Amino acid sequence: MNSKVMPTYGRVEISFEKGEGAYLFDDQGNRYLDFCTGIATASLGHCHPHLVEALTEQAGKVWHTSNLFRIPGQERLAERLVENSFADQVFFCNSGAEASEGCIKMARKYQSATGHPERYRIITIDGAFHGRTLATLAAGGKPEHLDGFGPVVEGFDHVPAGDLAAMEAAIGPETAAIFVEAVQGEGGVNVMDTTYLKALRKLCDDNEILMMMDEVQTGMGRTGTLFAYEWEGVTPDIMGLAKALGNGMPIGAILATESAAVGMTPGTHGSTYGGNPLAVAAANAVLDVMLEDGFMDHVKGISGHMMQRISGVIDAHPEIIESVRGQGLLIGLKCKVTNGDLVDALRDEGLLTVGAADNIVRLIPPLIIDESQIDEAMAALDRACEKLEKAG
Ligand SMILES: *Cc1c(COP(=O)(O)O)cnc(C)c1O
Repeated sequence: MNSKVMPTYGRVEISFEKGEGAYLFDDQGNRYLDFCTGIATASLGHCHPHLVEALTEQAGKVWHTSNLFRIPGQERLAERLVENSFADQVFFCNSGAEASEGCIKMARKYQSATGHPERYRIITIDGAFHGRTLATLAAGGKPEHLDGFGPVVEGFDHVPAGDLAAMEAAIGPETAAIFVEAVQGEGGVNVMDTTYLKALRKLCDDNEILMMMDEVQTGMGRTGTLFAYEWEGVTPDIMGLAKALGNGMPIGAILATESAAVGMTPGTHGSTYGGNPLAVAAANAVLDVMLEDGFMDHVKGISGHMMQRISGVIDAHPEIIESVRGQGLLIGLKCKVTNGDLVDALRDEGLLTVGAADNIVRLIPPLIIDESQIDEAMAALDRACEKLEKAG
């Protein structure tokens, strides 16, 4: 390969020409069932007719105007996100990292605006992933990601997941907020315990610090509710969204209560593209579909079906897969073989998946998946396991 693209990714030698629902077609005419969805992003599948129509219509009107002016589609999107969440206000940006970075800034600004400028530290969870900017890398704390990029941004403390005593001990006079994913995606599909998240909420209240959730991967229906925090009966003060919000049209968002956003006055934060007419047209169309009656019931139902089918495959191939975990359609297979080998074997069988930390293969199908497509995926999983058994 003689590509002029900077080689920061380990790429597979396949390129896709077209997508249709849960399927992608490469330039050789091969069809793949997409259980990768551009990493939990194309959650309504490829070329969803309603999304294509909304985006095409907007593309013929106006793409970009700037946040110097009112953007009606942005106001409508903010209103709908507020109506369907804990939040009172929304800031729009373009990516998950930008959303996480904005959450961090907002927590610090809140403390400073309410008389505690000394509170600037954020506590994060081991295995977390919050993005690739300098501050969000420091929040994640993964040494491989930080190596060679100079001094690590100051102000982040890391504690093990589920360890309340460690969290309590980490909270100090300089703590501004706790930042947590309800289900760690990149970290290996680690579902946080409900009692743990409830206890974190109480710790935040008792210590006058903010609870922030990174729902960049779990948000927008991925776990079977519009937002993963709904499962837990706890609400954050600030939440980051991106990935599926635009179904692939780049858009991110920070949702916050009025109280948490108190410092975000004119001039404090900004983003040129953030929530431009084209991006919000896509996101509004995504919400049209996801807010339809029965949509989330479908996700929950099909998730149960898939979990059951996966258990059957694990019983048949205990040497390849150890266990399954996850919530909704964010599902992780804990492998006994190297996870990358299973991802490769599955791709050879026409099923696209993606790895995660802790030797996990993630199955993140579009939320519109049906039972017959799950049968197809399970048949591919069964064949891939058989091949790996023979090879091993
Ligand atoms: C993907 C992801 C991010 C980063 O999103 P980008 O759009 O790649 O910047 C942040 N947090 C979580 C939980 C993610 O899954």
